[in-house]
Parts: sequence; structure tokens; C-alpha cells
Amino acid sequence: MTTEPPPTDTSTSPALAGRVALVTGASRGIGRGIAERLVAAGASVVNGDITGPDEAVTGCRHMPLDVTDPTSVADTLHSISTVEGRLDIVVNNAGIMFEEPLDGHDLDAWHRMVAINLTGPFLVTRAATPLLARRGGSVVNVGSIEGYSANPGHVAYGATKGGVHGMTNAMAVDLGPSGIRVNAVAPGWIDTELNASFVDRHPDRDEVVRQLAVLHPVGHIGAPSDVGDVVTWLASDAARFVTGQVITVDGGRLAKPPLPPIMG
Ligand code: NAP
Repeated sequence: MTTEPPPTDTSTSPALAGRVALVTGASRGIGRGIAERLVAAGASVVNGDITGPDEAVTGCRHMPLDVTDPTSVADTLHSISTVEGRLDIVVNNAGIMFEEPLDGHDLDAWHRMVAINLTGPFLVTRAATPLLARRGGSVVNVGSIEGYSANPGHVAYGATKGGVHGMTNAMAVDLGPSGIRVNAVAPGWIDTELNASFVDRHPDRDEVVRQLAVLHPVGHIGAPSDVGDVVTWLASDAARFVTGQVITVDGGRLAKPPLPPIMG
């Protein structure tokens, strides 16, 4: 049996008008790009970030949140329930990345990566489920192309991002009956502070940027708004029959196996 979608909205109201979204780690980078796109689509956004933004995004309320701390997570959800009174969209974006070779990998560093990148989305989604289930909702987890293939020294990062992809499937199965869709995006190289440090430490920054562009069939790296556009679609009713999916947002990088530079 199928259920008919609601009639097409022919008015000019934006796709997410009246919806409330929680985006973790939205003070900068990809999270900020996601928050800006959700606001542009009509949503009210709560930015749950461990630090406040240097400059506020209009339509975005900052709530101090440490995604690794269950008490902090509970406080954030309580605040949303009290202030906004509803929750329709959760974007689990907050994450960290560092390089550490497996040989001698520090155990505390491993636990920290897992706590932020993997346990964080679990804690936030678990706490948000009762509010999301009231009207049906959408969860979007931020994975990575490194859930599929890894750069050197990324044992912990790759493990957490592969875990995010697997957790997305499992959450979609568990939460579907409550009217909650769960999907993930797997960004490729996006221009944020997290990545800039890798580019900046090379003496010839322009050459790094040029060589990075060559890896991408579209000819350039991505911007936070590129991820924000896909998240906004996944959060909207246009994706009402999409759940349990990991959407790669990488300018085609994974589609192009690298050749030796001399043949590239
Ligand atoms: P970013 O610029 O470093 O931003 C991450 C944000 O998350 C920061 O505002 C950070 O706060 C916040 N945060 C860190 N730990 C937190 C915690 N425990 N609780 C709440 N907020 C916390 O990183 P990004 O490049 O935008 O990456 C965002 C997400 O995309 C991450 O999950 C990352 O793995 C993923 N991703 C990024 C790329 C890329 O190319 N950039 C590619 C694939 C996937 P502070 O500033 O205080 O640390």
C-alpha cells in the first residue's frame, strides 16, 4: 500500500517554513553553511556548538552544547522544547579530525574522536527522538568520503565516519515507524578551517589548491553551502520517501580513481 504525498504547495512559502532545526557545530565551517541554507529555506535554527560563532547567523540561536556530554545534550533539547516548542530537523554535524599513525596511536585521542564524531550523534539523536516523533522529522548525519576510503593517519577518523554511515542505516530502521527519516551526507574536500590547516602548512598553497582541483571531475573543491543545499533537500518533504541513505557530496572525487600524477 502507498500513501499519497500531500498536494504540491503552489504558494511561495519556503520549503521549511515554520520548521525548527538543531544543527550541531554550526558556529563555523560546514555546520554554518548548513544553518544558513536551512534559514534561507524558512527554518528556525538552533546552533548547538561548544563555542559561540564569531558572527551570528541571522535566524540562528546559539545554545552552548558539548555533544559528548549527555547532560549538555539534555539541556539543549529541554531548551528547544521550552523556547521553540517543537523540533523537526536534527543535523549531527559537529566533528573533529586529526592525523595520528596507527603505530603509537594515543588511546585518549582515539576515545576523543569516537566521543565527538560517533557517540555525539548517537546521544543527540537519542535525546531528540521524543520531540521529533511528535510531528515526524528528519535527521541528517554528517559522515565523510573517509567512511569509504582513508587518508594516511586517519584510523580513528575513518572508523568514526564509517560508523556514522552504519549508524544512519540502523537509525532509519529503528525510527521509521515513528515517522522519522534518517540520512547522511558524505562530504568530500570542503573549504573549512578543519581542512585549511592542511593546505596552509604547505609552502606552495596555490599549487596544493590546483592539485586538489584536479582530483575533482567538477574542477574545484566544495563549499559549506554545497553540503547545506543537500542537507536542506534531505530535511524537506521533497525527500519524504528517502531514508537510510548516505549521499556523497564530493564533486565526483570518489568516482575518479587517481592515476599517477605523470599520467593525470
Ligand atoms: P570545523 O570547521 O572544525 O567545525 C566544527 C565545529 O564543531 C566547530 O565549530 C567546533 O567547535 C564544533 N565542535 C567540536 N567539538 C564539539 C563538541 N564536542 N560539541 C559541539 N560542537 C563541537 O569542521 P568542518 O570542516 O565544518 O566539519 C564539520 C563536519 O563535517 C565534521 O563532522 C567533519 O568530520 C565533516 N566533514 C568535513 C569535511 C571537510 O572537508 N571539511 C569533509 C567531510 C566531512 P570549536 O571551534 O570550538 O572546535
